[in-house]
Amino acid sequence: MRCKSESCDGLLAFEETDEGFLMGNMILLADEVGGKRFFPCPKCRGRNLVDEVEHGGRTRVRVFGFEPGE
Ligand SMILES: [Zn+2]
Repeated sequence: MRCKSESCDGLLAFEETDEGFLMGNMILLADEVGGKRFFPCPKCRGRNLVDEVEHGGRTRVRVFGFEPGE
């Protein structure tokens, strides 16, 4: 999965489906700060924000946004 920052092409070690969901139950691996769950980008240190959504009767994990790192 590529970092969601438009100015960063950092590569995160997660597979993303064509529909924009992550493969596997990756929410368990996400960092959590202040109720936000995210995967930090190894390149820009930004936060790739994730949440869980219902899709096709299953709970899937989706990257829905990006926040720059400190
Ligand atoms: Zn990045």
